[in-house]
Amino acid sequence: MARIKIDQLSTVYPNGVRAVDSLDLEIADGEFFALLGPSGCGKTTLLRTIAGLEDATEGTVSIGEQDVTSTEPGKRKVAMVFQDYALFPHMTVSENISYPLKVRRHPKAQQREVAERTANSLSLGGLLERRPGQLSGGQQQRVALARAVAIDADVLLLDEPLSNLDARLRLEARTFLKRLQKEIGVTTVFVTHDQAEALALADRIAVMESGRIRQLGSPREVFGRPADTFVANFIGSTPMNLLDGTIDNGQLAVAGAKLPAPVDLPDETKVTVGVRPEYLTLEADGQGITGTVSTIENLGVSSLVTLECPDGSLVGVTVREQHEPAIGSKVTAVPEQGRLLLYSKEDGTILG
Ligand code: ATP
Repeated sequence: MARIKIDQLSTVYPNGVRAVDSLDLEIADGEFFALLGPSGCGKTTLLRTIAGLEDATEGTVSIGEQDVTSTEPGKRKVAMVFQDYALFPHMTVSENISYPLKVRRHPKAQQREVAERTANSLSLGGLLERRPGQLSGGQQQRVALARAVAIDADVLLLDEPLSNLDARLRLEARTFLKRLQKEIGVTTVFVTHDQAEALALADRIAVMESGRIRQLGSPREVFGRPADTFVANFIGSTPMNLLDGTIDNGQLAVAGAKLPAPVDLPDETKVTVGVRPEYLTLEADGQGITGTVSTIENLGVSSLVTLECPDGSLVGVTVREQHEPAIGSKVTAVPEQGRLLLYSKEDGTILG
């Protein structure tokens, strides 16, 4: 096992696309780390550069204490699972799992032993003689994981390994993956464009855009205090409210309301006010944003209530089911203490 250290790394494709751009990152030994971002932000390229499947154009990649920038992929002690699992259809589960050991010429008995042990830890024990075509999507995905962990790699790289599963299996596989990772303690980098998956699984998340890291932090930090409006927009199953605000006599004027400003800024500064629907509570009155209930969207155990404010802005508020106000009623959305964030109008970065 090992930490991963990336220094000033750029990966530029022959067509000139700078998929990874002067990136610095350190992933701790045993950490479960998620690379999160929209399509095309460079997540897969970064993962493939760590694996050695793409060449670094500039900068270095170290695994453990070793600079592996010029080391060929097979010598990096890295295991990778791709989106499509790529199992060998003509081989049994057992043969699929032990294939990397076979390639490395481990004795047959050891191949069998490792396959059985790994299969058992992934609840595949009864399926060793089946072929991939005779397995469910979730089982195939676990075989791919088993094959990756069977070789005792220092680092496990996962490129959207859950994306081929249906919603229910995906949740099951998530729990499984989290447990397995903690059990074997292998440093793991997980690529996903699904923010809920990253929040649920990772110890830390890097949110990427255009080959760079926009924010690096724990799921709590990234969710609770997005570093800029890009991250704010990207994280959360219901989008964060981003409203136009102005500092007026030391107070924050937003959506027709006057609220205490969370940071000291000069009068007349224009800001973007961010507050998550989950951090607003509806009250009959109080110090908050008042509006008329225009729509109610059912989210399961909660509902997303949208208020239309006097200045035309729309504010989303999450409420528990059966606590929904009547459509057309006038209510006030009161932010929880410390949950109102201010962002710069110029570059979208957090001001406080
Ligand atoms: P997705 O979630 O869609 O897989 P991603 O965040 O993993 O996206 P990458 O696949 O790393 O993004 O792509 C980053 C950028 O590099 C994109 O602009 C993409 O078009 C470009 N790119 C990827 N692979 C190549 C390649 N082989 N040659 C040229 N450009 C590429």
